[in-house]
Amino acid sequence: MSEFSLDNTLRDNIKKLIPYSSARSEFEGDAQIFLDANENSLGSSIDVNYNRYPDPLQKQLKQKLSTIKNIHAQNIFVGNGSDEAIDLLIRAFCNPGIDNILIFPPTYGMYEVAAEINDVAIKKVLLTEDFQLNIDAAKNAIDAKTKILWVCSPNNPTGNLLAEESIERLLQNFNGIVVVDEAYIDFASQHSWIKRLNEFPNLVVLQTLSKAWGLAGLRIGFAYASATIISVLNKIKPPYNISEATQQLALTALQNEEQAKEKKNVLIQQKERLLEAFQHFDFIKKIFPSDANFILIKVDNANELYKYLLSKNIVVRNRSSQPLCENSLRVTVGTPQENDKLLMALKEYK
Ligand SMILES: *Cc1c(COP(=O)(O)O)cnc(C)c1O
Repeated sequence: MSEFSLDNTLRDNIKKLIPYSSARSEFEGDAQIFLDANENSLGSSIDVNYNRYPDPLQKQLKQKLSTIKNIHAQNIFVGNGSDEAIDLLIRAFCNPGIDNILIFPPTYGMYEVAAEINDVAIKKVLLTEDFQLNIDAAKNAIDAKTKILWVCSPNNPTGNLLAEESIERLLQNFNGIVVVDEAYIDFASQHSWIKRLNEFPNLVVLQTLSKAWGLAGLRIGFAYASATIISVLNKIKPPYNISEATQQLALTALQNEEQAKEKKNVLIQQKERLLEAFQHFDFIKKIFPSDANFILIKVDNANELYKYLLSKNIVVRNRSSQPLCENSLRVTVGTPQENDKLLMALKEYK
């Protein structure tokens, strides 16, 4: 198989695209009077300073993240949630009606949905029984039109990390893009693939503020990759994809990393507590190990237990329709009090 080349992988129309050029990106330098962007110079009806367009490249935010993650700002893309990065990657690399992506179910649903919206075909290779990558099956499934492999580690909904050697083999043997979605990496016992970006020009790592950072409502996700891949994403994104309010709040969150870590540690302790407590219920047939902030369990009757918990005002995720997840529920680790109630409800079941 030929080596990865960004030029061969990128869609022609994207290669040729002349991006939208915003007023603020054409002017670089110092000025005091900005009459270039048709903003309202008087401000708004509320007492906030959002009358100006936000920085299209989120420089302050990237600078802070660059320090935290020990990576150059030019290797960081900021998206309106990782979901935006997922969509942009498909639009950059996959020709609608022609190209395909490969996913490894059971896994996160957005890869498939984003591909479908863009009329990009989806190939599927199931994980093995122990929820690891089947490399031989992946090799057989990949064809000349396969542009992106989507690997989720720790995987949603199973909770486990995928073996580093397997991901490495995909990166070495596939001449398209390999995305490693690390939405849950801050909860995990393994280091991020960010560390190895220099080794693999076809690697894209996704992270988010939605999980360990506790900011799902803010909508911020990151893609880390080579400077050339990042420049492609910047070229095709909506110019002002991250609002000023969001940029400021995200920056403040990153400046308060210690508080986020404290909360994360509480969640990890609570997860250990649930993992232990679940063992005492005989209707829970299997508890899968978790490197995330949720636990997948196999029970004797998932639909019945799901409905029972709902009747107790507790909603979990029924993943039973997913391959390899028959009778399985995905339970997010809650606050200590929420977990008390969950365990109390489980004790009263049957
Ligand atoms: C929750 C989650 C995300 C986060 O998406 P955002 O758009 O950043 O909120 C990404 N990938 C996986 C696998 C997830 O479970």
